[in-house]
Amino acid sequence: RFIVFEGGEGAGKSTQVQRLANRLRAEGHDVVITREPGATDVGARIRGLLLDPAPVDGGQIAPRAEALLYAADRAHHVATVVRPALNRGAVVISDRYVDSSLAYQGAGRTLPVDDVRWLSGWATGGLKPDLVVLLDVDPKVGLARAGRRSGQTDRLEGEELPFHERVRYAFLDLAAADPNRYLVLDASRPPEAVAGMVAERVVGILGP
Ligand code: C5P
Repeated sequence: RFIVFEGGEGAGKSTQVQRLANRLRAEGHDVVITREPGATDVGARIRGLLLDPAPVDGGQIAPRAEALLYAADRAHHVATVVRPALNRGAVVISDRYVDSSLAYQGAGRTLPVDDVRWLSGWATGGLKPDLVVLLDVDPKVGLARAGRRSGQTDRLEGEELPFHERVRYAFLDLAAADPNRYLVLDASRPPEAVAGMVAERVVGILGP
């Protein structure tokens, strides 16, 4: 089974990924935790290009080039980490996947979302998650929580609030369009409460 956590900055994705993995492992499941961008050696280099505070060419990567770099990270990630783990029967939990590209490169950078969707489909060979947990948080709260302010620690943080608001509503629209595949949770709630709701839904998917 393939479970993905999505959400904006400071939504608590990595905490929730870890909590779910701990719980499933305690129940005896084989669990692989992974993330995008940057889970592989190739991906770490791509992540460096994407997120280094002083990247090549003066800090600007053309939006289409950026989308291709995320897609390249994802193609390699799916081929070398996600599919092999799923094939051996593991539960794969990824911190970000295709929806992040639809939200950040599509809605955020305003590339045509259908193009980004096609590109992701090509990169992944059409692999879809069984469940997407969307940790929804107001970007003002999330950015503050992440301890980040515009332009400080990585390139994306220079983006204005409207960018992060477009991203947020893109995630919510994706979830609304496919409610069976999504669990939308208010990420401003205490982490234990969020983790409890995630576990409840995942148990339903994995079965007894
Ligand atoms: O989730 P994580 O903090 O590792 O993401 C790193 C950065 O990459 C974040 O600032 C996120 O906004 C950005 N990102 C992006 N497009 C993606 C995935 C992540 O802009 N498809």
